[in-house]
Amino acid sequence: MVKDRAGAARGFASRAVHVGERASNSGFVSTASPIYPTTSFVYDELSDMDAVFGNEQPGFVYTRYGNPNFTAVEQAVASLEGAEGAVAFSSGMAALHAAILNQVQTGSRIVAAKDIYGATSALFTNLFATLGVKTDLVDFMNIDAVATAIKETKPRVVFFETVSNPLLRVPDMPAIAELANKARATVVVDNTFASPMLVNPIRFGVNTVVHSTTKYLSGHGDVTGGVIATDEERAFEIRELTKLTGAVPGPFEAWLTLRGIKTLPLRVRQQSVNAAKVAAWLAADSRISVVHFPGHVRTPNIYNSELRGGMIAFEIAGATRKHVFQFLESIRLCLPAVSLGDVYSLVLYPPISTHRGLTPAELDSLGISEGLVRMSVGIEDAEDIIADLDCGLAAAIA
Ligand code: PLP
Repeated sequence: MVKDRAGAARGFASRAVHVGERASNSGFVSTASPIYPTTSFVYDELSDMDAVFGNEQPGFVYTRYGNPNFTAVEQAVASLEGAEGAVAFSSGMAALHAAILNQVQTGSRIVAAKDIYGATSALFTNLFATLGVKTDLVDFMNIDAVATAIKETKPRVVFFETVSNPLLRVPDMPAIAELANKARATVVVDNTFASPMLVNPIRFGVNTVVHSTTKYLSGHGDVTGGVIATDEERAFEIRELTKLTGAVPGPFEAWLTLRGIKTLPLRVRQQSVNAAKVAAWLAADSRISVVHFPGHVRTPNIYNSELRGGMIAFEIAGATRKHVFQFLESIRLCLPAVSLGDVYSLVLYPPISTHRGLTPAELDSLGISEGLVRMSVGIEDAEDIIADLDCGLAAAIA
């Protein structure tokens, strides 16, 4: 409890500014954490502030350096990922940027999967390239190709998505991590699609796990954020870096993220059950030529054996861009919107959104056909989701 700075003897303006504030340590404990929308923190003893600034004592001085709402999210994610530490960010891209920036310098090499979120590959091939960091994009489903790239380029960082975007491919994480660890490269993965419910990469030799918390962790489509889970030393370094680059969340956003995390197990369980039903229905429908669903392929047994997540990608047979637009404009329950991991079912068209930076030839080489859509199955009734897709397909084919 800090000193009372607004006694009754103070003037109106002084009382208007101070009364009611800083009561958080006044003897009660709220069940749900309060939001700390404050830029700075007050100390009666300046030696305490000095010690917190110098990282000699835990605490908060300035929200760009840390805030109780960030700490709450960081502790929750570190616990769910089995990591020693975590650092919260204002977006998934900010977290990815910091995770890589922390590891590379001019002349460093990166080996990354080519089947990843479009903005992430642009981060490597545009932004980091201008800093003199070269990235080789490799097919991570081909372990020999990964081994060769690591051997030839001696990368500082090996990067992939645990479940890839948009084709939901699942690389052999333990084998890749072993190759990278032997070559003394830092293994960074994006675990956004799987969420900590399906796999904990650190258990399989990965050094750093990144999430866009915008997706499954927050889960309600109402907050943008990111997080890095890693070992204590890297977490410390990344926090020091972030004190300079400043891509921290807002306290309210961090609070919303923590609230979302509480229902992650319930949501992912329901999304997985719904997605399995939707994928089975799509696979049996003659209007669909291909269904990509982690539940349909053999995935390394490090993944949750019952739950396969809520992500599906499928190709509408023979569909052009016009047919896909017609499909997306005709669905009424599922939302034609970007993002994923929400309670709502979301359907997106990669060539105009997540992968719009790619040329038709590049899309083709990745296996992203003109009729491919990606779906994030929500927690609605599976029967309603299927009926909606059925109507949309009927309109698209007509
Ligand atoms: N990683 C993956 C796999 C994503 O799909 C996205 C966004 O769609 C991101 C990272 C970036 O996250 P954010 O939009 O929170 O910056």
